[in-house]
Amino acid sequence: MRYCKRCCYPENAKPTIIFDAEGVCSGCRYHESREDADINWEERERMLARLLEEAQADARRRGNIYDCIIPISGGKDSHFQTWLMKEKYGMNPLLVAFNHTFNTQAGGRNLENLVEKSGCDLIRITPSPHSVRKLSRFMLKRVGDLTWHYHAGIYTVPFQVSAQMNIPLVIWGEHGYAELTGMFSLKNFVEFTRWTRKQYDMRGLDVADVVKDPDNDIKMTDMAPYLFPSSEEVERVDMRGIYLSNFINWEAKAQTELMMKTWDFAPVTFHRDRTFNLYSHIEDHANEVHDYMKFLKFGYGRGTDAASREIRLGRLTRAEGVELVREYDPVEPKSLATYLDYFELSRQEFMALFDSQREAGIWERGKDGQWVLTDAIHRQETDETHEALKAPLDEADHVFAHHNRALYYNPDNPPEKSGDPRLDEEAATFSVL
Ligand SMILES: [Zn+2]
Repeated sequence: MRYCKRCCYPENAKPTIIFDAEGVCSGCRYHESREDADINWEERERMLARLLEEAQADARRRGNIYDCIIPISGGKDSHFQTWLMKEKYGMNPLLVAFNHTFNTQAGGRNLENLVEKSGCDLIRITPSPHSVRKLSRFMLKRVGDLTWHYHAGIYTVPFQVSAQMNIPLVIWGEHGYAELTGMFSLKNFVEFTRWTRKQYDMRGLDVADVVKDPDNDIKMTDMAPYLFPSSEEVERVDMRGIYLSNFINWEAKAQTELMMKTWDFAPVTFHRDRTFNLYSHIEDHANEVHDYMKFLKFGYGRGTDAASREIRLGRLTRAEGVELVREYDPVEPKSLATYLDYFELSRQEFMALFDSQREAGIWERGKDGQWVLTDAIHRQETDETHEALKAPLDEADHVFAHHNRALYYNPDNPPEKSGDPRLDEEAATFSVL
């Protein structure tokens, strides 16, 4: 397996990653492009301001109280998107949450906090836990993803509300795929479309594919939150989904710090099984199992994601990143037991789901039938080309600098406890509401 010479991504990273002639990945090149002189962020912010002014004028014409929809989970990005729209641009957003039902205590705390601090109205759609269980179990077996319904719901429910309430503009935060692996260029101003929704967010599967599949007992009555409005409705309302990361220089850590200071967003303080990051995806209880499955398939996980991001931003050296990948990526999360119970699967049955999906050249079956990881970034030699291609390091803002201790778990200098058990203790199971 080839690994990027600048960050930690392997060549088989998903979605598609491309290595250039020097051995640097498209995600690293995308990151560089954000700092390119020819991207004029002031001009882009002016474009955003104009677009939002038009949305306000449009809302007045339609007789709407709300001028946009912000899809939220309650995490750091939800806080920042809402704060930016409300405080900086004077918008009156309607917050729309799809409740995936695999909630953490920290997520509940932060969602409540966001509604309180922003003073915005919230619509939260909670699907039947029975339907979620059927769907999640089916998708686990069919596409190896127990969180398929998250993306399906998050990328559908805001547009259902858009259609019902005649609010055309839906404002997303970061374009995740572009950031991680550089799939889209910043020059394209990519917007949300039905096509990207089905292709990337729903793994090529739509409601009809699920319901007509003979291998499950999922009915249309289980699928209401995942039915995208018809083309006629999309046209009638003139729906549009934009990503803020196309208009402002998106920096998750700075935004998180700002939200901690202004709106009391709170990271967790306990050691997480699969990442040293304490502020990202903390509302999602199934995330660790979901991420562990990525490791079982492709040999890498959230340690690689988090380390690569920090390397690109100059807060870790590649060697330190490789060490964190070695430490976090292979860890089987404690919460796996909860989900085995939930799906009524034995550990063996769960592991067997990945037999046909294990990446050749990374995983090999030993004589005893056990899977063995045969390649990993820490087993590869580095040479002078790695040194020549490295990202500049900002020593003062190192991930494990003292002022970052609330954001990144450092066993030698762990974060201060908050006094709130929802943030200080990891709950074994999830909350539906
Ligand atoms: Zn890279």
